[in-house]
Amino acid sequence: MSRKKIAMIGNRFGRLLVLEEAPRPILFKHKELFWKCQCDCGGVVSLTGCNLRAGITKSCGCLQIETVKKQMTTHGYSKTNIAYTFGAAKQRAKRFKVPFNLTIEYVAELLTKTKICPILETKLIVGVYGDSPSLDRLIPEDGYVIGNVRVISQRANSMKNDASITQLTNFIKNIMPYLNKE
Ligand SMILES: [Zn+2]
Repeated sequence: MSRKKIAMIGNRFGRLLVLEEAPRPILFKHKELFWKCQCDCGGVVSLTGCNLRAGITKSCGCLQIETVKKQMTTHGYSKTNIAYTFGAAKQRAKRFKVPFNLTIEYVAELLTKTKICPILETKLIVGVYGDSPSLDRLIPEDGYVIGNVRVISQRANSMKNDASITQLTNFIKNIMPYLNKE
């Protein structure tokens, strides 16, 4: 075994530990060496030495998945989420025949600054049923226009739309005694 090969084995690149030389995939055209790496999460991947040394790949893929999940739950929203919320509001405006003048930048700003549902006081989490952010109209007939929308959870939005104020008031009045009944 050449010195170059020995030097790679046992080396750590991010979460990856180089175990041994791996066979080069048949379709790979360059004459680079492949290395079998064990990821801290338990995953195993084969990568080129060049890739590892350049720091391009630092995990079996688990790191990217974690980063995406983190972005979705703690930091603002991805471009896709913003575009989706914006598009959904535009469609609803059309369906309910109400005005629409929102911009994607305005929706992005609203989404980014609202982390907690103001009605249910729950954390807003994109893609989680009920906890996903949705745009709500303060005055429904004024439509989706700047100044008339705010971000609340999907759950709060449907509760608000499904029940009348009287029903909600009765719900609050009766739910605790009801649940405490034997
Ligand atoms: Zn991993």
